[in-house]
Amino acid sequence: MNLLIRNGRVIDPANGLDAPAEVLILDGRVSRVGPRLEVPAETPSVDAGGRVVAPGFMDIHVHLREPGQEYKETIATGTRAAAAGGFAAIACMANTQPVNDTRAVTDYITAQARAEGVVRVYPIGAVTRGLGGRELAELGELAEAGCVAYSDDGRPVMSSALLRRALEYAQAFGKPIVSHAEDATLADGGVMHEGFVSTDLGLRGIPAAAEEIMVARDIALAELTGHRVHIAHVSTAAAVRLLRDARARGVPVTGEVTPHHLLLTDETLRSYDANAKMAPPLRGKRDVEACREALADGTLDAIATDHAPHALADKEVELDQAANGIVGLETAVALCLTHLVRERVLDLGTLIARLTVGPARILDLPGGSLTPGAPGDVTILDLDREHVIDPGRFYSRARNTPFRGWRCVGAPWMTIVGGRVVMAEGVVERGPSR
Ligand SMILES: [Zn+2]
Repeated sequence: MNLLIRNGRVIDPANGLDAPAEVLILDGRVSRVGPRLEVPAETPSVDAGGRVVAPGFMDIHVHLREPGQEYKETIATGTRAAAAGGFAAIACMANTQPVNDTRAVTDYITAQARAEGVVRVYPIGAVTRGLGGRELAELGELAEAGCVAYSDDGRPVMSSALLRRALEYAQAFGKPIVSHAEDATLADGGVMHEGFVSTDLGLRGIPAAAEEIMVARDIALAELTGHRVHIAHVSTAAAVRLLRDARARGVPVTGEVTPHHLLLTDETLRSYDANAKMAPPLRGKRDVEACREALADGTLDAIATDHAPHALADKEVELDQAANGIVGLETAVALCLTHLVRERVLDLGTLIARLTVGPARILDLPGGSLTPGAPGDVTILDLDREHVIDPGRFYSRARNTPFRGWRCVGAPWMTIVGGRVVMAEGVVERGPSR
């Protein structure tokens, strides 16, 4: 597909660019970026109207639920939610049913994504068979089938010996391991962050140490094996300190943080709203501040949503019975523009870096920049669009968000994948599957 994007303010952190420019996509790839481009006759074009034109955003932590839990989400609905939220590429976790621990499941996901998806889908394979934590999955077979990383996300790999072996094998295939860093024995039965609020509410807590112990262990194993570990959804101040220190020593470890861990605290649970229940849980104010600082200084490389769709019935129950997680694809960018950029926690260029080149480097994905030859993926932002978050309008099949009714200023305006416009002004193209 060919496309010329005119009249934009192009921000491409990977190339240190923030200037008025045009972006030319030829045959689905970035051809050139510059002030006034010569283009082949009859190249279709889009007028960005002075809006911000960035490399296509990437979310490396998404639960698509297909195969097995299509009542929560499908690849068709999940990729449309991604496009609506400004994401041109997503990586999906292995905790489907069946678990993505064999080539057959990976093949199914990639075939469905090709047939029914509207954004790029990169599968993440399981570390252990069935996420059981006992024996390694067929890591080589999964890499061959197209998995970009390994993770038992949703569950920690509790055995250090097994994770060490996983890292040694994963190194041979050149794929990182994404760690759900949580000591299950400490977190067991907890409903929310352990602290003043949990005591006040009389709810069972999950101590911050449950995360920190595993982050420390994962860093030690990354150092021992020399292979890359990526820590998913970092949420505590001490986890951030461990990461900062490890990175200063050159340990191959990266980290991501979710919008909800940047914007909400455990105080949110005072509502007893199950939409605020997640793993790791919403933490205290100082943890949130530490995560914000770490995102700004690059200790945390990426913002990832941990998009976790659930049916109403999974959430409309007592807090201790309720499923963990919230949907995030359609709210992340607007929330970050409103509450991080407008409130000067991050400048716009840094936010875009954490949504493009940061995640691309963590998983070695193509894209994340407008370098000539890169995939022709672009996200255009409207920094002035005022709106209120309304889950009733989500493309996702799920509605579980604690951000209902939040006012935002700024939103994704267009999502382009391989030179094809898949979302314009909030409306996602209709596919065969809707
Ligand atoms: Zn997780």
